[in-house]
Amino acid sequence: MTESHAIESHQHETRRFPPPSDFASRANVTPELAAQLYAEAEADVEAFWAKQAATLDWMTPWTQVLDWNPPHAKWFVGGKLNIAANCLDRHLTTWRRTKAAIIWEGEPGDTRTLTYWELHREVCRFANVLKKFGIRAGDRVAIYMPMTPEIAIALLACARIGATHSVVFGGFSAEALRDRINDAGCKLVVTADGAWRRGTEVRLKPAVDAALEQAPTVQTCIVLRRTGAKVDMQPGRDHWWHEMLETVSDDCPPEALDAEHPLFILYTSGTTGKPKGILHTTGGYLTQVAATAKWVLDLKDDDVYWCTADVGWVTGHSYVVYGPLANGATVMMYEGAPNHPEPDRFWRIVDRHGVTMLYTAPTAIRAFIRWGEQWVLKHRLDSLRLLGTVGEPINPEAWMWYRQVVGKGRCPIVDTWWQTETGGMMIAPLPGATTTMPGTATRPLPGIGVEIRTKDGQPVGANEGGYLVLTRPWPAMLRTIWGDDDRYRRQYWSEIEGVYFAGDGARRDEQGNYWIMGRVDDVINVSGHRLGTAEIESALVSHEAVAEAAVVGRPDELKGSAIVAFVTLESGRSGDDALRAALREHVAREIGALAKPDDIRFTDALPKTRSGKIMRRLLREIAASGNVVGDVTTLEDFSVLEKLRADEA
Ligand code: ATP
Ligand code: MG
Repeated sequence: MTESHAIESHQHETRRFPPPSDFASRANVTPELAAQLYAEAEADVEAFWAKQAATLDWMTPWTQVLDWNPPHAKWFVGGKLNIAANCLDRHLTTWRRTKAAIIWEGEPGDTRTLTYWELHREVCRFANVLKKFGIRAGDRVAIYMPMTPEIAIALLACARIGATHSVVFGGFSAEALRDRINDAGCKLVVTADGAWRRGTEVRLKPAVDAALEQAPTVQTCIVLRRTGAKVDMQPGRDHWWHEMLETVSDDCPPEALDAEHPLFILYTSGTTGKPKGILHTTGGYLTQVAATAKWVLDLKDDDVYWCTADVGWVTGHSYVVYGPLANGATVMMYEGAPNHPEPDRFWRIVDRHGVTMLYTAPTAIRAFIRWGEQWVLKHRLDSLRLLGTVGEPINPEAWMWYRQVVGKGRCPIVDTWWQTETGGMMIAPLPGATTTMPGTATRPLPGIGVEIRTKDGQPVGANEGGYLVLTRPWPAMLRTIWGDDDRYRRQYWSEIEGVYFAGDGARRDEQGNYWIMGRVDDVINVSGHRLGTAEIESALVSHEAVAEAAVVGRPDELKGSAIVAFVTLESGRSGDDALRAALREHVAREIGALAKPDDIRFTDALPKTRSGKIMRRLLREIAASGNVVGDVTTLEDFSVLEKLRADEA
């Protein structure tokens, strides 16, 4: 491969964890079934996906599995179905009608359980409320809500009548909400008075009021009462959720919707730039999220499954709501912060509700490590049987900690690589069949085509880093960027001829495992060597004093780029020159002298998106000029930036 495009790898991970035999023999995907799924997908990928789609309820069968007109795909052409009916109605004819669909815990400690029967009824009623306000198939509805059962009800009610939802995370500002409402042209907004977060009320309705001053397409706003705070209700426009429900029937037949009907628009996290409105449709999306939830999350009828993501992110759409409910699972939902009232809240929830699977993000795991394992060890956690992660590369030492301290060495870990754009999981272990290693999402799922290429599209050899691309359409793929099909073509299908460009650097090892090396935008060029960020960061995190690290390049006349590392320390540790020297030596030992940071800056916190991902582009600007001009609308905490700027000065 052309040297200038390679991303070098210096990592040597040897720890391997085959699936425990008792897990493997009972898994939804046993080793035998895994082999069969891969073989079927290889033999005829369209027939393979059609077989998965056939496990859903269709109102009209499709006539063509895939219509691929690059870069536009239509899956299950001519087929009609309803996602809410697949997530709810079809369970009502079985014993699952009385099974818990959602077990919810609010931050103050209040709980609610909704059976499939009850959830179905609430969804029908809310769908009738939407209809009453003139919402029809194809209209866009913005959802700006706390993590309460009603956010799931709102999504499913939209899906039932064919309204396209656009969920905006409840932590976003009025401006971010306004821009997303206007981009999608929403007619109605569903919100709440507020939400509980770290013991205080996050007020939502005032942000909606501010947003709606400049959102002319919105005619109606429906407000859930959650905290009881006083809110301004604009007559004619604003209505209380509970009052509206009293005026409607609980009978709402599901619409027969085209397989390509737009289900939702969701904006990406904004880790690398301005968020993009990703459009997902109906039949292919549900096929892939339902299948992957079954394979990778191993959902069974006696599980209590907890994905800690907010429904405001794609993980919440696909693996809190649609995938698990399509499988008839019991879903745990929690409203608040992981460290309220104390840093063991998650572990209390696990024991209190008998949670069997925990699916969370590396940023959360690093926070738990920083808070100290004593908070975890206070709890039994013996109901857990499977752990998962998504959102960022997980540092191998964090993976090991998750495995030992949370999983007691007993629970397989599924590290799942996917994106808002992919809609569902793409690279992930099958926990009953795949041997895992810390730091790799392992192999592409059956039916998914992944390769590593150079910038000019050439395949690369084992362990050579390059660009992660997807070589064939997949059912849950994004269909376009809302309102900007040109950008869809440019961003994903033009960087490398003929394939989908994911924007991540990766390498594949001899066993076929994929190791994500960081975003290609973040690659650091040191004296002609191109280094991904993940390996250097993982080397830093493997030092006992380090909690979290982000590395970026700073322009350097001699080397092209100097490596600057921003490091947060474990609680109780303080940074000085001796530690700086020790960390540089540590990195040299772990991965080589080339990767030694030129500059190490200790900081209390790193700038992150509201979904918890490190925003290296802001650190790059700070390292280069001390200032930030890039898009910061998705930044979680502006004071972090202020502080980093001040440190710089
Ligand atoms: P934007 O595209 O706006 O910059 P984003 O890429 O953070 O934001 P998401 O769709 O939420 O938006 O995140 C997808 C990205 O998250 C992937 O491209 C990858 O960089 C990272 N990611 C997700 N899961 C994993 C994983 N298991 N291992 C490594 N990286 C992951
Ligand atoms: Mg992205």
